Amino acid sequence: MVNHVERFAPGPTGLLHLGHAFSALTAYDAARKAGGRFLLRMEDIDTTRARAEYEDAIFRDLAWLGIEWETPVLRQSDRFDAYRAAIDDLDRRGLIYPCFCSRKEINAALSAPHDTGAEGGPDGPAYPGACRLMPRDPSKLSHRPYAMRLDMGKAIASLGGAGIVKKLSFKETGKGPRGETKKINLDPGYLIELCGDIVISRKENPSSYHLSVVLDDAFQQITHVTRGQDLFSATSIHRLLQALLGRPTPVYRHHRLITDEDGKRLAKRDDARSLEALREQGATPQDVRKILGLGA
Ligand code: GLU
Repeated sequence: MVNHVERFAPGPTGLLHLGHAFSALTAYDAARKAGGRFLLRMEDIDTTRARAEYEDAIFRDLAWLGIEWETPVLRQSDRFDAYRAAIDDLDRRGLIYPCFCSRKEINAALSAPHDTGAEGGPDGPAYPGACRLMPRDPSKLSHRPYAMRLDMGKAIASLGGAGIVKKLSFKETGKGPRGETKKINLDPGYLIELCGDIVISRKENPSSYHLSVVLDDAFQQITHVTRGQDLFSATSIHRLLQALLGRPTPVYRHHRLITDEDGKRLAKRDDARSLEALREQGATPQDVRKILGLGA
């Protein structure tokens, strides 16, 4: 039985750059070394931004890097029924609620004088919670677009409370004193105060990144998730959702971020630094591995 399944999960919303190459090659090398499998997933949940031409460019860039992936490729846009089923389940259990707030209203509430201005979790400051307190009005749901949010307090209580959630953990590869796997426990205080009531489905999308990534990793039977350090704080949310939805927990590796010469993180918008541009300037896949400090 193959016990090492990795994936690369880009959003087809721009050209891939060196940061993506680092994630994809690290995951691919780890799968090969372990005699495991390597899967690709198109995170095209944001149908307003996903483009077929970016998907083609992803295939071209990965093949150029010498990466082979299994087919068919999973697309989040084919998974809407699965997301719906999980949302209905959370709703039946009373763990999510509709939120009608606009970004503007949320920002205004966050800058109110009583707010402590805390930095927040992976999605920014925690939602102040106006809609959590409102009784559900079915007639309103059919008239106005809304997001669904997880009631973080109720979610933690439903798992048995903070004492139990503190014992939930995930394994992080390469973070122990000698580069070994380290166990990371969840911090319920961080989840409640800084992450807060995270979005489960958006007004314009049938799922959020957090929900789909948890469901898709389980669906693809991913055993090892390789991704950037910028997603480390999101992993606590994913671990909590795995517990709520009865999904297994993969081993995680959050790798260092690839930055430009000014130390800034590379962005998808920066086409001049894309893999495509590097290739056009004559770089080889071996050059890319060398720049990234990866073996041949
Ligand atoms: N789609 C995400 C990205 O492009 C990565 C998702 C993940 O690794 O969980 O950064």
